[in-house]
This record gives sequence, C-alpha cells and structure tokens, in this order.
Amino acid sequence: KSDDFVASIKEELAKNDMTDKVNVVRTGCFGLCAQGPIVIVYPDGVFYHQVKPKDAKKIVSQHLIKGEYVEKLLYHDHKTKEVVNKLMDTPFYHKQKRVALDNCGRIDPEKISDYIAFDGYQALAKVVNDYSADDVIKILETSGLRGRGGGGFPTFRKWSFAKASVSDQKYVICNADEGDPGAFMDRSVLEGNPHAVLEAMAIAGYTIGANQGYIYVRAEYPTAVERLEIAIEQARALGLLGKDIFGTGFDFDIDLRLGAGAFVCGEETALLESIEGRRGEPRPKPPFPAVKGLFGQPTIVNNVETYANVPKIILEGPEWFASMGTEKSKGTKVFALGGKIENTGLVEIPLGTTLREIVEDIGGGVPDGKQFKAAQTGGPSGGCIPIEHYDIPIDYDNLIEIGSMMGSGGLIVMDEGNCMVDIAKFFLEFTVEESCGKCVPCRIGTKRLLEILDKITMGKATLEDLDKMEELCDHIKGNSLCGLGQTAPNPVLSTLRYFRDEYVAHVVDKR
Ligand code: SF4
Repeated sequence: KSDDFVASIKEELAKNDMTDKVNVVRTGCFGLCAQGPIVIVYPDGVFYHQVKPKDAKKIVSQHLIKGEYVEKLLYHDHKTKEVVNKLMDTPFYHKQKRVALDNCGRIDPEKISDYIAFDGYQALAKVVNDYSADDVIKILETSGLRGRGGGGFPTFRKWSFAKASVSDQKYVICNADEGDPGAFMDRSVLEGNPHAVLEAMAIAGYTIGANQGYIYVRAEYPTAVERLEIAIEQARALGLLGKDIFGTGFDFDIDLRLGAGAFVCGEETALLESIEGRRGEPRPKPPFPAVKGLFGQPTIVNNVETYANVPKIILEGPEWFASMGTEKSKGTKVFALGGKIENTGLVEIPLGTTLREIVEDIGGGVPDGKQFKAAQTGGPSGGCIPIEHYDIPIDYDNLIEIGSMMGSGGLIVMDEGNCMVDIAKFFLEFTVEESCGKCVPCRIGTKRLLEILDKITMGKATLEDLDKMEELCDHIKGNSLCGLGQTAPNPVLSTLRYFRDEYVAHVVDKR
C-alpha cells in the first residue's frame, strides 16, 4: 500500500515539475496502524490517514500547490468527531512515551545520516571514549532496564555475568525471532530504527569484551532484513562497525542469521543451536549462555526492544529512564495492540500504566459499543486479564501475580462476544504446533491437553475432565525443559481461573 502511494506521489510531483522542491521520505511505522498508510506534510506537520494512491493527486494539487488541506483525508477523532491535524495530538499518543520507538516514523531508516542527525552513535562514542565496562554495567543497573523479550531479567546482571566469564572469544546476540501471534514490536523497531539496535549491540560488545555480534531475525520479515543489511553496510562504511571503532582499538562487527519461522527458536538456547547450524532445540540450563553460549563461548542474548533502549539510557542518563515506570519495572514497554479494539497498532507506555488506560484512552476502546471482556498479554505463554483487573498497573510483577505475564508485548483485546475456551484453545493449538518435541511433558502433554479442550468445546466433557486438565497443566508446567512448555498451559489456567463458568457451561455433567 505505502509503496503504491509513494510511486503515485512521485509521479504527481514529476508531472508538476516539483521533484526537486519536495522531498518524499519513507519512514518506519508510526504506530497508529489502524489509520495507515499515514502521510505527514511538512513544514505544516499536518497528517493524512488511510491514503490511497489516487489521493496523491489531491495532496499535490491542493495542499502542496495551493496550501489548502485536503479535508476528506484529515483525521477525525472517533469519540469527539473533531479534526485532529497533528499526528501526535491524537488521543492515541497522549499517554504514550516513545523511547524504543523514538525514531520510528521520524527518520528514514535507510539513511544513517538521519539517525546521526538525531544523536545516533553518540552513545557508542561516549561509551568507548569515556566509560569503562563497569561504568556501563552500573548505568544499566541504575536504569533498572529489564529484558523486554519476556522474562524481565535485569539486563545489567546478564551483561555482568558475560563480562565476568573469562574467554578470548565472546558473542553478542540480538534475538529478533519474534513469533507470538499478534506481536510485531521487534519488526517495527528493526524496520523503523535499525541503527539503534546496532549501536546498542556494539555497546554490549565493548562492555562484555566481545568482537562479534549476530542478529537472528525471521526470514518472514524481508523489510527488516533488508534495512538491517543496509544499516550494517552504512555503519561499516563510516567505521562505526568493524575494526578500531572511533580510533580506540575496539573491534566489533555484526552479521545476520535468518530464522526459518520456528517459534521455539525464540528460546535463547534453541536460537544458539540454530546459529550453530543445528536443529533449533533448547538446551538444558545451566550452563547459561552468559557462561557457555554460542560455540561454547560466553554470550549475551537480548531482544530487539531491550537493545533499542540502551543508547537513550546512555545519552539521557539512567535516572531519566528510572524516573518512568513502577518500583521494580522501570522505563517503558512496547505493546502490539490487536483484537477487538479501535486503534490497532503499536504503543509504547510507561510501565505502570493501567490496562484501562491502554484499552480506553490509547486504544480508543472496544468497537461497536461492545463491552471489554479480557485482554491476553504474553501471547501463547501469557494469560488473560479480566475486567476485574482493568485498573491494575501493568508491570512485570503485577502481571505474574494475576496469572499472566508481560511476554514480548502482544496485547490482544477480547469483547463480550468472545468465548474464553476458544481463546485458550487457539493459543494451545499454536503451542502444540510449535513444540519442538524434545521433551515428553510438552510434546505429549500439550496434545492431551488440547484433546480435552476439544472435548469441552464439542460438549462431550465432564467436570472430571476439568480436574484432569488442571492436573495435566501442572505437570506440563513443572516438567517441561524450556519456557515454551513451562508456559504453554498459562492461557488454559488463566481462563479457568477467571472464566470457569464458561468451561462449566460447556460440560455435559454439571452434577
Ligand atoms: Fe521442545 Fe517443548 Fe520441550 Fe521446549 S518444552 S524443549 S519446546 S518439547
């Protein structure tokens, strides 16, 4: 869609002899996906939404030539019905705080000069010239940054373990194997701000003493792959990757490795196996990758969003980052908003924002006058949050307490029309399909669990089956080898916890 519009507007500009007067810049995602493709016309800063190739003519003839806005393409707030001219003035952005997404939608991701114009690579310069490895670890500790890929492990701890491991060869890995249904946070960062990830990986390399990084990215993200390739080449050409960075004697380079779409390769040890050229199956832990990772060497594995925060933390200061969020969950988190919600898209909120604020104020509420019923966070590893927890501040610990988890940031909204047993079944089907089969509790247990769920949805189950299902969930959680199996029962357990009546309504034996 955007490609067609860009071609059209370039054609119109050429027809009007304006090619050298108007610069057409392609950016990454603005976040407000429901209204895309979006065009912002500068210097006014006015934005048009849901543009089509045929709209290019009007934008050129009316706005660019006559200076008059194209009324029918202006955005009307769906609640107040009033026109909102500036993208950042839409209610969608009011409660957001863009850190990881900062440059997405602002720069041309294929031009390193754009990134540098917004302080790009200054954090790396500062680190390699002014800071010791211990300084960087201290900064990360003060910032409170926790891994954004799911587990929420403190980033400084992971980096300090790898730094403390003695070896001539260490590695820095970016996990960009985003696979949760409905999640597209990492993809947007890579497509919109790829240099931030490269810069952060170089900072990590300096900190732990590594000279080689790998980005493990899904082959199904061709634009992200292409933009990363361009970014790596541009950074190498300017000496920001490669030998003797900033003349300090620090060497660090990055290569891409493409994942073939197996969900389990998002598990860090399976990812390492895959990079080493083997079938992507998890390894038992310990040893942890920080001690014995890629090719048996100390390795850190962080996800895209975690890295994207690092340059800003270095430049703005760890106290700035720690000033956002809750006591134990600092900073911001990116969520992919999907399901029954007006503003589907990508949002970044300070941790501690309530689910109600995300759904109602940012997401614009549930469409068609229907009632919010629940939201699933954490994808197939997470759980649902019912309306009684609508006002819970979203952070790592609160979500675990109510039976869900942060995960990588998928947030799917359900309305009153959704059957929660079907929702649990949907996520479990996904896990069964993606189990690597290495260990029995996950390989066999999730299949048996799915069979019981099938029985329930077909109206053939008894109350005893519900008891069996809970017992099986505990067994799978407690005995599976990796996070995929250990969290697979979560959607079933959380829907059972909050919507047991819906399960009971399906069973034949109500005693
Ligand atoms: Fe494979 Fe599942 Fe076992 Fe993980 S828990 S190793 S995905 S079978």
